[in-house]
Amino acid sequence: MGEPAAHPPVHTRAESTLPAAAGRRVLALTFDDGPHPENTPRLLEVLRRHGVQATFFVVGENAAAFPGLLHAIAADGHVVGNHSWAHHPLNRMRPSDVRDDLGRTSELIDRVVGTPPRWCRAPYGAWHPPSLKVCADLGMEPMGWSVDTRDWTRPGTARIVSAVTDRATPGAIVLQHDGGGPRPQTVAAVDHYLPLLKADGYTCVRPQS
Ligand SMILES: [Zn+2]
Repeated sequence: MGEPAAHPPVHTRAESTLPAAAGRRVLALTFDDGPHPENTPRLLEVLRRHGVQATFFVVGENAAAFPGLLHAIAADGHVVGNHSWAHHPLNRMRPSDVRDDLGRTSELIDRVVGTPPRWCRAPYGAWHPPSLKVCADLGMEPMGWSVDTRDWTRPGTARIVSAVTDRATPGAIVLQHDGGGPRPQTVAAVDHYLPLLKADGYTCVRPQS
């Protein structure tokens, strides 16, 4: 949603790697801010071609605009997570508004996908204690990240690739975006780095693994 260039200062949760990794060379790819009518189908095609499943943290109003894409994400076996309804910082909202915002998004996901989301990522990673409580009350776990590709700055495909390949560690959670603007660099980077990760012994997993 919009260009995230105006990110407010945030404190990201410490739990930003896969707890079950236990040293195994697994990592989780995550894509935020979609679904997007151009980026998301292209990304799904790349992931399908490489046989990789990821997690998509969707924005509710985008999912409402493109329910077919939301369904397509789930139909390909990817995890759909809650990334709020309108991408406003939860830590600046009243708890009752956070509940309405996240709850509305979870209901939409449940209606389109058939199951409510288990994972939630706050816009900008900006959790605060009341929003974490709402997240738990709605039956979700918060997910942060350990590798920030900064792909939304459009640094070039090669730099997105190296951000992932240089910093991949067992249990890493990789932050990327399929919404918020044109993302051809992100899509190209995924296509490029997936074979490199595989050659390095990494498997991309859904967060339950
Ligand atoms: Zn976001």
